[in-house]
Amino acid sequence: MTITEPTTVPTALDRARAALRATLLEDRVLIDLGSPGLYGRTGVFEHVYAAVDTAAVRSMADLQSSVLRFPPVEPLAAFERTDYIASFPDLAASISAFTGDDRAHRALLAARERGERWESFLEPADLMLAPAVCHPVYGLVTGTIPQQGLWFDIVGDSFRREPSLDPMRLQAFHMHEFVHIGTPDSAKEHRDGRIPAMRSLLEGFGLEIDVVPANDPFFGRVGKILARNQVEASLKYEFVTPVYGDAGEATAISSANLHEDHFGTSFSITTADGETAHSACLAFGLERITIALFAAHGTDPASWPADVRRALAL
Ligand code: ATP
Ligand code: ZN
Repeated sequence: MTITEPTTVPTALDRARAALRATLLEDRVLIDLGSPGLYGRTGVFEHVYAAVDTAAVRSMADLQSSVLRFPPVEPLAAFERTDYIASFPDLAASISAFTGDDRAHRALLAARERGERWESFLEPADLMLAPAVCHPVYGLVTGTIPQQGLWFDIVGDSFRREPSLDPMRLQAFHMHEFVHIGTPDSAKEHRDGRIPAMRSLLEGFGLEIDVVPANDPFFGRVGKILARNQVEASLKYEFVTPVYGDAGEATAISSANLHEDHFGTSFSITTADGETAHSACLAFGLERITIALFAAHGTDPASWPADVRRALAL
């Protein structure tokens, strides 16, 4: 009897992703850290990344958002209230730390000596890696918000456990979010009203953009229903660009999200007239926009079209 190994023939999309990844590494834009979706960044990457962020902030300047910055980890209790683990258990990741005594340390070292994994000697530390940068804000505004609502400018680290060789899918990345907490109408206005400006900003970078109804990657069988509901209720729009041409679907580089009363309910936030607050956020995926630019225009920003350089003030 012959057993044939299952052969996985790389698809056109696999090849396109591998080619972009190879170019970014060979041209020293990114540095491979040895774990899929985890990269070091060089000066040329940072130069474009900073220009993208500055342009994104400028495009939202009229909102006069309050600036908030948070660490890349959040307390377990705060994470709990977002319900993230119910919807995205596969993307979540927690921090563990060593809390044992000398004996436990010796056991750890012995396991390590034997070439075994030693992380099981660590204990959960009541800290989660932040999967979305807007999460901590809802806990801060618990209670009644002012009549006109609140606007926040938040950028920070996001971690999502989705290892991939696609350079557009990282495990550690940054999003710059513009969050509004207010009434159902003002939340919807925040989300819908800014879509044209976000679109023209990204188009001004010389990227081909489509704005499409989208869903989050909810986990499991129940998740399929949640995803369908999210699309039907038009809660999420993504700004997508065809990084890999015809080889695969266009990739989301930014999003505009209506949370309805999800966070308002979980965090007991009420409007001036006593209703549960609604919220919305606009999120720029900073690495994805940056890498889409390298994919579209090449790895030498000095040779990019003049209008693109101007839009980015490069
Ligand atoms: P919500 O607040 O409803 O949780 P969000 O807007 O904060 O949603 P997403 O829409 O999931 O978060 O992500 C925002 C942007 O972050 C995406 O449009 C994308 O550009 C970027 N992003 C998401 N996942 C990754 C990833 N694995 N690697 C790189 N960038 C990512
Ligand atoms: Zn958000």
